[in-house]
Parts: sequence; C-alpha cells; structure tokens
Amino acid sequence: MENHRIQIVPGCNPIISAAIENLQDRWRQYSNRSKSKPLAGLLEEIIDPALSEYAKKIPRNYLPYILGSGQDGPLSEIVRTKPVGAELAQRNLIREFENASSNPAFSNPAFVATLETLVELLWACSDKRARHTKVRGLNGQRRAQEFCRFCGKPSELAAYAAGSDSVDIYHKSTTLQLSSTHCHEHRVKLPTGKWNPAYKSASMSVAKFDLELDRLTRQSRNYETLSASSGDPLVDQYIYQYVHRFGFRPGDKAEMRNHARGIVDAKLSDHKKRVLVLQQQGLNQSNIATILNVSRQSISKSLASTPEKFLAISASSSHHPGFNDEFRTKIRDIEPSIMDWLDDPNITDIMLNPDGRLWLTRENRSKAELGTIIESSQAKLIIATFAAEAQISPDAGQTLECELPGLLRLVAWLTPIVESPTFAIRKMAQ
Ligand SMILES: [Zn+2]
Repeated sequence: MENHRIQIVPGCNPIISAAIENLQDRWRQYSNRSKSKPLAGLLEEIIDPALSEYAKKIPRNYLPYILGSGQDGPLSEIVRTKPVGAELAQRNLIREFENASSNPAFSNPAFVATLETLVELLWACSDKRARHTKVRGLNGQRRAQEFCRFCGKPSELAAYAAGSDSVDIYHKSTTLQLSSTHCHEHRVKLPTGKWNPAYKSASMSVAKFDLELDRLTRQSRNYETLSASSGDPLVDQYIYQYVHRFGFRPGDKAEMRNHARGIVDAKLSDHKKRVLVLQQQGLNQSNIATILNVSRQSISKSLASTPEKFLAISASSSHHPGFNDEFRTKIRDIEPSIMDWLDDPNITDIMLNPDGRLWLTRENRSKAELGTIIESSQAKLIIATFAAEAQISPDAGQTLECELPGLLRLVAWLTPIVESPTFAIRKMAQ
C-alpha cells in the first residue's frame, strides 16, 4: 500500500494536484501510527494550505462540499481523528453537490474532479492507518478491507465497524470471526464451518473480476474516449457504452466492483460483448458470424445465453421509432450526436447553455454531463428544425415552446432576449 499512487482525476484543480504530488514524494515514512512521523502532520504542512488557497478561488457556496473547509476543522485534523471513513464522507458530499447542481448552469466538472481527487487522497490516507486499530472494541489483529475481495460490498468486519449490527447477518456465536476480507455473501466458510460455494466460485473467477474492474475503472477515468484498453476495439466499445450507460465516475468504486462482479457472474465473455456491439451496429446474425469467423448457430446461442439486462445495453442506441427519417437526417446534418441522444432512452434532458455547451441528463443520475459544444448558428438551425417538425413558426425575439407528441417538449429562448439561443429538451418516457 505504501507505493499506491493517488489517482489525480482529470480536470482536478492544479493547486490540489500539485500538493498531492508533493505529498506523495514525501510520505513514504509517514503513517497514522507513527508518533515521530505522523501522516496528519504532513497533511497539515502540505494539503491544508493548498486547500485554503483553493477555497479562495471558488464560490463561497461551494465550500460546504469540501471536507476540511468547514466546521470539522482542516483536513489534517479530520484524518487525525477519523482516519477511516473520511473518504466516504467526502464521497457523500460530492453526491450532495451533484444533487444541488441539478441545474446544469451550476454544474462544475472541474470542481467535481477536484473533489473526486480528494476522495482518492483520503482513501490512500485510510490505507496508511495503524495496523492494530481497535475496531469498535474488538482488539483487531486484523485490518478490515474496505471492500470484499470479490465485489463492492464492505467486508464483514468493515460493515460491523461502520455500525451494522444485524444479528441476522452476523450470527451472535460467530461475531468475533467476522471476515476482514470478504462480504457476508463471499465469506470463506459458512457459519456451519463448511466451505462457502459462493466463495469457491468467486475465487475461481477472481482474475476475470480484476480484469473487468480494471476496464471499467480505466474507462471511467477517461470518460470521453475509448479507454478500456482490452486489446479489442469491439470490447472497448462495449465497455465505453456500459460506463456511459451507468455514468460511472472514478469515485464510484463500490458500484463498479459490483458491476464487474455482475459481468463475471453472468458469464458475459468478450465474445458475447463483440456480438452485442455488432448487433447494435445493425448487423444480422449471419453477418456477425462472418465477421467473427464462427457459425451463425453459435451467434444465436451466444445471444440466447446473454441475460436480458446486458442485451438492453445494445438496445439503448437503436432508433427511436417516433422520429421520421427526414427529421433524423436534418438533425444529423447539424450535429449527429444530438440524434444519438434523442434515440437513447436513458437520456432524459438535453440542454443548451448560452456558452454553447450542451448538457445531458441521464435517468437516475442527478448530475448533468457535458455532451458537446455547438455554434450559435447550429443552435438556431436545431430550434428551427424542431419548430418546423411541430409546425410552429419561430418568431424572433420570443421564447418558443413546441411539443412533438409522445416524444419530447422543447423550450427555446431566442435572440435578442438572450445573447445567443438556448434551449431545453425534456424527453417523454418511452
Ligand atoms: Zn463480496
């Protein structure tokens, strides 16, 4: 753990990233346990000043979302008093910020990237805690792993330390034998003393789990480009769509671990991923078989044995039947990705800010994400195309509202009310 590099999330503020680099150059000898080289002392020297400098550069109402900038005292103090769990507290603050900023005008990817980096920092700090910490009165010789080795649930001991006392789960007679490395489902032995079959099968597939988790993590870190580095462009494409479908960010460690587990347990092999991507591109089974150099029967078998929830990934970018071809072509000519977002059932809102940034909101994600940037001339064409489709004539100088029945509603603000045209599209549930 001493050599673990803290991940700087792309977009992180340079004051913070520089301080973290500096910290890592020096922190090898430091730990939460050491009296002569306390980790909190080093944080006080390097991270606290960087955070207060950063705090001066951001809006005041952002401050409550940064751990260590409020009433709890500086970050070093938080790590001193609460070496474990601080990263979860910061993670929750990010969620709160994302909820508070559901209005895309307040969305701030750089601020969130900085907060995500702080989560990484706090996580690394918790790894440097003393190895003999008392866990809620258990004189722990063992150090609880935050996550189960095989999934995104906390290890039994970590769940217990965090306050989960469920007697149903933690049989009273075995309370002192909580697993420090596995969750309840994946613990090595059952309370009866027998080997746990779920442990056995998960340990057989641990290499696959690590591989899928690495791919999801890499893609979440470089969200906008194909980044899974699987060695196969079709598999990379699948992972890209998967990560976008769920909107994973680097801080979503538990979720990605659970999804990696799900992919492995469902036996969604790379072969099946390729088939799904090709099918989504509109190829029929014979064509897919030719490309992958296998029989058509094996393609149909692959699809038949793929659980429904994974098939849905490929359905997400199929054409929405409600838009006619002429409309499609017009929108695609202006900006192709807009048609993709209109077709994607997971995207609920598309909004254009006056600065030309298009923001997207996905179902079940509070945070808007940046789609692309367009020119104001393109914005005008888009609005005009929607208006024509809804058979409304746009009067200059007015707001324009139109509805494509069953599909969406669009509200647009045109010049001169605003400096450059903006709009908000709310899609109707399919
Ligand atoms: Zn588990």
